[in-house]
Amino acid sequence: MRPIVLLALAPCLLAAADLIQEGDRWWSHIQVLAGDSMEGRNTGSSGHLRAAQFLAGKFKEAGLKPLGTNGYLQPVKFKVAKILEDQSNLAIVRDGKATPLTLGLDANLGVRAGLPEHTEADVVFCGYGLSVPENQFDDFAGLDLKGKILVYILGGPADIPANLRSHYSFRSERWKAMHAAGAIGVVAIQNPKSMDIPWERSTLARLNAAMELSDEKYSDTPGLQFAAVINPARAEQFFAASGHTFAELLALADQGKALPRFPLNIRLRATEHVQTSSVESQNVVGLLAGSDPKLKNEYVVYGAHLDHLGVGAPIQGDAVYNGAMDDGSGIASLIEIATLAKLEHLRPKRSILFVAVTGEEKGLLGSQYFTSAPTVPLKSVVADINMDMYLPLYPLKYLEVQGLEESTLGNDIRAVAEKAGVMVQRDREPQRNLFIRSDQYSYIKQGVPALTFKFGAETGSAEEKLGKDWLRQRYHAPSDDLNQPVDKPAAAKFNRIMLDLGLRVADAPERPRWNADSFFKRFER
Ligand SMILES: [Zn+2]
Repeated sequence: MRPIVLLALAPCLLAAADLIQEGDRWWSHIQVLAGDSMEGRNTGSSGHLRAAQFLAGKFKEAGLKPLGTNGYLQPVKFKVAKILEDQSNLAIVRDGKATPLTLGLDANLGVRAGLPEHTEADVVFCGYGLSVPENQFDDFAGLDLKGKILVYILGGPADIPANLRSHYSFRSERWKAMHAAGAIGVVAIQNPKSMDIPWERSTLARLNAAMELSDEKYSDTPGLQFAAVINPARAEQFFAASGHTFAELLALADQGKALPRFPLNIRLRATEHVQTSSVESQNVVGLLAGSDPKLKNEYVVYGAHLDHLGVGAPIQGDAVYNGAMDDGSGIASLIEIATLAKLEHLRPKRSILFVAVTGEEKGLLGSQYFTSAPTVPLKSVVADINMDMYLPLYPLKYLEVQGLEESTLGNDIRAVAEKAGVMVQRDREPQRNLFIRSDQYSYIKQGVPALTFKFGAETGSAEEKLGKDWLRQRYHAPSDDLNQPVDKPAAAKFNRIMLDLGLRVADAPERPRWNADSFFKRFER
């Protein structure tokens, strides 16, 4: 048995000097991962491959066994599509008269390999574009949607629980319902109130390559012919012939009310030219074998994503999207946790799997691939502890946990955080749908209980403002780089809590379970 008393007290007894040293070591990994030489680790790039090789080397140093399909690496193949914007266009057609839109300003086309070059169809506004059978809520009921393009506002009525809303907002789930209703295309409008990134910046990413897993069997939007997003500041023109205004709909959305559904009495006409290619990228997998003869055949996964956005549109003269926090921080935590396990000769009963995935920024694709083609039996994976951009910008007093109320992992994180003197908070911004927005969701959909984390803060505090400012200024911008203020000892404290969480789960007699009333229990296998 593990000397439980010593380890249990370790985080409280850790001297500040240790946290400074461990924080500096954590940061040293980020200095490599988010250095300009890694070119922003775009999926399929040589920079990403170099980062994967660096990580494999660190896994080896930490004594992990290779558990990819090619050493530590698990190659993943992608289809790539890049828009040729000067050969593409989009127009609103009303009473036969076409009004051209400006791509990048009014709206952006959703790019995919294999979409038709020309699309023209009637357009229907369908509220939040949600169908939630559990709540007898259906934005598509009673509408003729056959052959139509559907426009919706991201969000959902307040009386639908956040997790259900999130689940049915997931790309594949939403499209499943729209496709079943006969739709051929989909257009999203973000509510300006819940936009992490202002349009002026997010629109720059429209020229980045879009990717899908190569193998057709992974396609999650079958039958989709057209996709676009509308700039909310330019949305009124789409509603001008409908008898409604976008402002009126936003006001209802802001009150959490259901939205009316109606035809927009326009057609959308699009020409879309794309350049297609294919690339290979890498997941990276290492194993710390368990010590119990039986439990070692079960696995606790620590996950983070290795990819970021690569080299893109320059902002203030900087074109390298380094992704230091997104998600260099999580990858550095993987290295740190593996390193601590080695330095402290830890021998958990269950095995621990360190899984770094590619393609997260392209739609959680590397984790979708790993959970579909896992290198250990997926039903033996007992938990996924995902670390993605947890933002250690200030001392760790509050830890916000997504998934806290869904499984017994909630008790585990409460116990280890409390021991470290950290208060656990539930998701304070459920409207941001964070639980479906990173790789944990690939595991959850396969039935694996999961958690993901963010540094928390008190409402209205200076720390909360720091986090919000970070999103507005640095999230998916070149300034998420090595020149930003980060609280390294706080990150070290986070790493210690994550280590303790994994050990607690790995050593528990029972594997984690979904709570009986959790929506996600349905995916259990
Ligand atoms: Zn990201």
